[in-house]
Amino acid sequence: MTGFPSMSPSTRIYIAGHRGLVGSALWRHFLQHGFENLIGLGSSELDLRDAHATATFFRDARPEVVIDAAARVGGIAANARRPVDFLSDNLRIQLNLLDSAVSNGVERFLFLGSSCIYPKFAAQPIPEEALFTGPLEETNEGYAVAKLAGIAQVTAIRKQHGLPYISAMPTNLYGPGDNFSLHDGHVVPAMIRRFHEAMLAEVPFVTCWGTGMPRRDLMYVDDAADAFHFLLDHYDGERPINVGSGSDVTISEIARIIADTVGYRGEIRWDESGPDGTPRKLLDIQRLADLGWSAKTPLAEGIRTTYDWFLAHRDTYRH
Ligand code: GDP
Repeated sequence: MTGFPSMSPSTRIYIAGHRGLVGSALWRHFLQHGFENLIGLGSSELDLRDAHATATFFRDARPEVVIDAAARVGGIAANARRPVDFLSDNLRIQLNLLDSAVSNGVERFLFLGSSCIYPKFAAQPIPEEALFTGPLEETNEGYAVAKLAGIAQVTAIRKQHGLPYISAMPTNLYGPGDNFSLHDGHVVPAMIRRFHEAMLAEVPFVTCWGTGMPRRDLMYVDDAADAFHFLLDHYDGERPINVGSGSDVTISEIARIIADTVGYRGEIRWDESGPDGTPRKLLDIQRLADLGWSAKTPLAEGIRTTYDWFLAHRDTYRH
């Protein structure tokens, strides 16, 4: 339980990163729920890596609630190729946001971690207690170390200032507005694009990365936005809380669903020299379930909606 009232439509909510996958879902969600004072700035208007600019923005905009959905994110290949960008940019973005929030009297802050910052060989399903207990997956160590620092900062702020700031640990998210880059995107958008292009070109086979054996817990991003709103109203714990779907599928099952969704009839092959990453990362969602929240969108339905979005935005999607 929380010791403060639920947010109301007039609450001034700053959604950092409101044009990204998660931020745009949050924006849609709060608009649909009648919120009238949403604040969002594109990265060309405010560079969150700039401490002075971020502090000035907070002084002027005076948000009451902040959701940090701003981060440098990318799939397994992007993380492996540019580790220092993932480390340095994310450290600076979250440090500036959290410091500015504290010094400008922000009442509540939701920091978003990620399931990929748990130890590589954590027990499955992964309980929140597994954080900080073992070696990380090397393909995204830069990103993970930055996000772990953010979680530590939220905990420290709670201890030192007594503020009800919280962290959530979302599972792998996908949906409208995703990054459909073949090289830098996550598995769902990258495969949607790959299979769509293969379907159009009628190529006889599509080669996906790795063995197809790793398992992932996937959640449609609008469900995640709903969960984050729910947590801001109902959760005030010191520990980060997992936000997952409760089940996982293999990468090859994901490929099958995507091939069926886009109508690709050729063969699916696996390039076993490619990276598999973490073998499995199914989140333990008992604590979230105990609070009374669960995801609603089945995987095939979420992938269908994402594909429809991709088709409607073929000329403008990120790639
Ligand atoms: P991860 O959950 O951090 O490992 O991120 P990804 O979503 O990038 O990758 C998930 C899994 O899908 C990994 O085992 C990848 O090797 C596999 N995979 C297969 N094909 C692709 C692809 O085209 N793009 C990406 N990003 N991953 C792929």
